[in-house]
Amino acid sequence: MESDLNKPRIALARNAARDILKEMILGNPPIQIKTIVAHLKNKRGIQIEIFKKDFGKGGRGIQITEPTPKGDNLIIAYNKNHHVHSQRFTVAHELGHFLLGHTRNGHDHYLDLFDEGSGDPKEIEANQFAAELLIPATLLKIDIENGIRDVPTLSKKYWVSELAMWRKVLDFNLVKKIN
Ligand SMILES: [Zn+2]
Repeated sequence: MESDLNKPRIALARNAARDILKEMILGNPPIQIKTIVAHLKNKRGIQIEIFKKDFGKGGRGIQITEPTPKGDNLIIAYNKNHHVHSQRFTVAHELGHFLLGHTRNGHDHYLDLFDEGSGDPKEIEANQFAAELLIPATLLKIDIENGIRDVPTLSKKYWVSELAMWRKVLDFNLVKKIN
């Protein structure tokens, strides 16, 4: 049992992102956060408030879950000093914490104060959720097959950082197809 608790649920996290994308009429990348949020509000009835804060250089974001009689309210703050690509990943990551149930059962908030996770399974899950939400593997594979084979161009197309794109390429064993 101990190993189960310590192991990130990567497939579950990716599938949670795929479920949202399947419910939406998905166009070409970039996947827009505002479209995702509107979908979660309208179709899943989640109250979501998102705003920016000055967390200095290192702070990434905050997620607060407020239980109400009508369901949980979700509050997300992201760092106003970060690049928009990082901000998008942060919001997607915090949505992941909420949708994967990390802030239920008495744990009502999440502080993401550093860019790199601690190796905490919940951080890995939230990152895998965010990576699949913003860079759906099926779309990425099509783009690579169609000849977009460099990470800077791919990262611009998906509105993610080059680091996030490199991680995705590595996670899905696509490195050999990249120039
Ligand atoms: Zn986190």
